[in-house]
Amino acid sequence: MSQTYTQTYCMCPWCGEQSGCRVDHLFAEAPRTAGGWFCRECRREFLVDVRSPSEVIVSRGKPDRRFIPCATLLALDGADGPVYFVMDDESYEDGPVDTDEELQSSRQFFFEEHSCPMNWIGNCRVIVKAGDDDPHGVLRFVRSVRDARGFDLDAREQVQRLFPEAYRTGESK
Ligand SMILES: [Zn+2]
Repeated sequence: MSQTYTQTYCMCPWCGEQSGCRVDHLFAEAPRTAGGWFCRECRREFLVDVRSPSEVIVSRGKPDRRFIPCATLLALDGADGPVYFVMDDESYEDGPVDTDEELQSSRQFFFEEHSCPMNWIGNCRVIVKAGDDDPHGVLRFVRSVRDARGFDLDAREQVQRLFPEAYRTGESK
């Protein structure tokens, strides 16, 4: 019995680097096309034509569709003043280069309205509180439960049973 396994990823047709986009999950459905996908290195768009597991054609997508890497500062306004979160972020652009005003507006919309923090809290690189970028104790410990982790949104009821205090409203600490 083999004790290894192999995965197949696309090379990027723009930068020639490993795109980070896996394609072998489509082999059973070949022939089929997929994309646009975005290279994890240069963040530009490419398209995939899976003719068979041994014949995968990767081509460039629209040249002006790409993600622009940026750093974004978020703040949580706590009782002792704001706690700042420095985020790894990226801005999707489709067409001419965004002005700074467009960038601010699109990132504000993304973080304040469009997305759930669970999707990007793992992208936080630095937390700053009152000038301290090593702010131990910035979050208050409440309680631990043994043998419970890895929840997804479908497990919301389970989370509510484990931590009912987190769902209670109208009380301070
Ligand atoms: Zn690339």
